[in-house]
Amino acid sequence: MNIITVTPRGYCKGVINAINLVKQTRKENPNEKITMLGMIVHNKYVVKAFEEIGIKCIDAKNKTRLELLDEVDSGIVIITAHGASEEVTIKAKEKGLKVVDATCIDVIKTHKIVKEHIKHGDVIYIGKKTHPEAEAIVSISNKVHLISNLDDVDNLPKDLFNPLITNQTTMSLYNIEILINACLLKYKNAKVAEEICNATRIRQEAVRNLKDVDTLLVVGDVNSNNSNQLRNIGLNSGIKNAYLIETVNDLTKEMLENFKTVAITSGASTPTYLTSQVIEKLKEYIETKELKKEIIDITKII
Ligand code: SF4
Repeated sequence: MNIITVTPRGYCKGVINAINLVKQTRKENPNEKITMLGMIVHNKYVVKAFEEIGIKCIDAKNKTRLELLDEVDSGIVIITAHGASEEVTIKAKEKGLKVVDATCIDVIKTHKIVKEHIKHGDVIYIGKKTHPEAEAIVSISNKVHLISNLDDVDNLPKDLFNPLITNQTTMSLYNIEILINACLLKYKNAKVAEEICNATRIRQEAVRNLKDVDTLLVVGDVNSNNSNQLRNIGLNSGIKNAYLIETVNDLTKEMLENFKTVAITSGASTPTYLTSQVIEKLKEYIETKELKKEIIDITKII
């Protein structure tokens, strides 16, 4: 039985910057109420670690960032790495809140591309419905058309003007290729601005290039788009079993029963500590064939 640790994996620069910014905000404002508008990054252990230092996270699947803001009446509000619409910043300031913006620079770049293009035509945006990054982009203009699958391409209006096809930064390389090609068939004159961020791309390519692996373990939160995409890329690349696990305690004997070579990677929002625990447990399992539960030490997350 072999273990391959995939490189690169884990935290990207956008996540590191966001986490550092929140920590610094706490340090500079020890007595201030601080609220994160949604999960700072899509990992519930990171959110728990911030709660331990008094930073509250408010989130609800059926509420936009703008609606979440209704629940904040004072202090500092943090915009997450996924970004938010301009209306969120305006409304927060009108409420007298101080805004700390942790939006990743790669997400800001996509915002700029979309804002520039809507002056000249429509935008087809490939993204995940209900994801905060997509929510913010769609709010820019009603000329932005969100698509997530081939049915959505069929349902796009026939007469889009000078369309530009672009995408959420953490989508799968495979999926967007299929959707971009479908859009290009429908809109012969469309331009393409492929916006998968470098961190997502190199993590996905590292999985796509794996050879002779029968099991892939992706450590990441179930809500993390880039973690889910890593698992999908593994399956699309022919790896027989690909699992998304949040912590070492999600490992089961069934997952490990028949593997010859297991590869381990993690999403861009997964703390190194959680991935290291999985790697250590696998080494132990190879020796003992036992899987004991571990304690997740929140103080080691941020
Ligand atoms: S995954 Fe990409 S877009 Fe998202 S925070 Fe990381 S670098 Fe930024």
